[in-house]
Amino acid sequence: MKNLSILGSTGSIGVQALDFIAKTKNEFKICGLAAGSNIELLKKQISKFKPSAVSVFSQDNAEKIQKWCKDRKYKTKVFFGEDGLIKIATIKEVETVLSAVVGATGLQPLVAAIDSDKNVALANKESLVMAGSLIMKRAKEKNVSVLPVDSEHSAIFQCIGKENKKSIKRILLTASGGPFYKSNKNFEDITVEDALAHPTWKMGKKITIDSATLMNKGLEAIEASVLFDVPMDKIEIVIHPQSVVHSMVEFSDGCVMAQLSNPDMTLPIQYALSYPERKNCYIKRLDLTSVGKLEFFKPDFKKFKCLDIAYKCAVVGGTATAVMSAANEIAVKSFLDGKIKFNDIPEIVQKVVNNHKVIKTKDINKIIQADLWARKTAEEKIAEIFF
Ligand code: NDP
Ligand code: MG
Repeated sequence: MKNLSILGSTGSIGVQALDFIAKTKNEFKICGLAAGSNIELLKKQISKFKPSAVSVFSQDNAEKIQKWCKDRKYKTKVFFGEDGLIKIATIKEVETVLSAVVGATGLQPLVAAIDSDKNVALANKESLVMAGSLIMKRAKEKNVSVLPVDSEHSAIFQCIGKENKKSIKRILLTASGGPFYKSNKNFEDITVEDALAHPTWKMGKKITIDSATLMNKGLEAIEASVLFDVPMDKIEIVIHPQSVVHSMVEFSDGCVMAQLSNPDMTLPIQYALSYPERKNCYIKRLDLTSVGKLEFFKPDFKKFKCLDIAYKCAVVGGTATAVMSAANEIAVKSFLDGKIKFNDIPEIVQKVVNNHKVIKTKDINKIIQADLWARKTAEEKIAEIFF
């Protein structure tokens, strides 16, 4: 039995992970769950999985959960805030931490988990975009694994297998293209509802907007570069609307390996949690004859400016990617809140990146400072548009 903690248990990935775990028998024990503010769902998860500890964002909600647990004679310990997330990430008996919180919130608990000798199943790509090389170095020193949950990275990981990394010629990172790849709609007129209607994946709001701007693919290219230690110029994006080929790797001899399945996050989640074993199939098996055709197109860097910004920031390195990701988080939130238009998202991110003096640092606190600066600067730029 593998002891697990899940950070972000009430989110899209967290819920799918718990659904998978519930279907397996005595293979995983849930020791810790961390949520943000959805305490009704967290209560259901506590009743079902009886974790030894949970955490929520606010102290107020922590007190509510504490009382609720006491009334039911549950022995679950309740924590809150950033420290609470770290507590859940570092529970002594936990072997693997699934990090599925959204945004930069994931960075410090991830580092804490690695420092406490935990293996990590990583969905939270923003932490790798912020401080990827530091995280991978720390994981190596601690001899713990960082296994990808992101479907493309799970595909790449499986395609590379035991191959010598030196023989990787290219990584072909597939992208559905989101709802606007073929659309002629003016980006200014795109509503929140339009942008949340992803054609192939059902995900949390932030990543769904990132998929519509293609920032998600930019973040994923950086994530791939860090996870597999491959330079950005060897990572190519391929638009593949069917989302059946989850990514490919080309080797020096011209062989291209691909990983295919129906689009369902259960598979990459279960692979990261069960690795190196393969468990039963809990998703609809792939029938290529019913899929019919698989298409592949080149991405449009001019139409999807976020993609261009992400590649350029990755090449600059240092704090550039952390600043870009933080500015994007703020811009996406403002778009969801109706403060800015869809086409303002890349404009805000670009302005913040242009204003930033990049530093190369091995100090995680300096990266966090850059992230905070970017958030404040993005808010200022948004206020200029909004008021
Ligand atoms: P969701 O928005 O659905 O879920 C986010 C989770 O994080 C929720 O449990 C939320 O809690 C929790 N959370 C948010 N803020 C805090 C906080 N300050 N403290 C503690 N918990 C917090 O996101 P997704 O599941 O879609 O995505 C999670 C991560 O996985 C992202 O980095 C995303 O890019 C990545 N990913 C997601 C995929 C998907 O299919 N969804 C695919 C590949 C990667 P609550 O809801 O209770 O407030
Ligand atoms: Mg992905």
